Amino acid sequence: MNIAYVALGANLGDPASTIRAAFGALANLPESRVVHCSSLYRTAPVGILDQPEFVNAVAMLETTLAPEALLDALLEVEQRFGRIRAEKNGPRTLDLDLLLYDDQFVDLPRLTLPHPRLHLRAFVLQPLAELAPDLIIPGRGRIAAWLPAVANQGIVLL
Ligand code: ADP
Ligand code: MG
Repeated sequence: MNIAYVALGANLGDPASTIRAAFGALANLPESRVVHCSSLYRTAPVGILDQPEFVNAVAMLETTLAPEALLDALLEVEQRFGRIRAEKNGPRTLDLDLLLYDDQFVDLPRLTLPHPRLHLRAFVLQPLAELAPDLIIPGRGRIAAWLPAVANQGIVLL
C-alpha cells in the first residue's frame, strides 16, 4: 500500500457540496481507500483575483494505483464534475491535484511530485497539516516549518 495526498479545490456553483461529493468520488477510485478527509476551508483566489472564493480540502488515500494511474483517475473525476479548463488559476468546478505519493519524486511532463507549489499555498498546507501535522515534505522538510510563511494568506475553516 502507498499513501497519497490529494488536494481538492472548487469555486463554481456550490463549492462546499462539490468538495463533499468529490470525497465520495475518491472513495470509489479503484485500488484505493480514503483514510482521512480534512475539514473544508474557504480561501481567497490566487492569481486571478476577480473570481469567487474557493473551498479547499485534502484527502489522504491508501492506494495500489501507480502515481500516473492515480493522476489519470483524478483527471477523470475532474472531467465527470464538468471541469472547464479555460485559464490557468481561473474558475473551476473541481480541481484535483496529486500532492504527494509516499516520498517519491516524479518529474514527468504531466506529473511532478511532490506537487511543486504545495509548500507555498495556505489552502494546501493548512488542510494537509490538519491530516499529517508531522509530515516531512520530500525535499522541503517538515510541514510545520512552512506554515508561518503562509499565515498571511486568507483562509477560514468552514
Ligand atoms: P492547476 O492545478 O495548477 O491550476 P491544472 O489542474 O489545469 O492546473 O493542471 C494542469 C496539468 O498539471 C494537468 O493536466 C497535469 O498533467 C499536470 N500536473 C503536473 N503535476 C501534477 C500534480 N502533482 N497533480 C496534478 N496535476 C499535475
Ligand atoms: Mg490541477
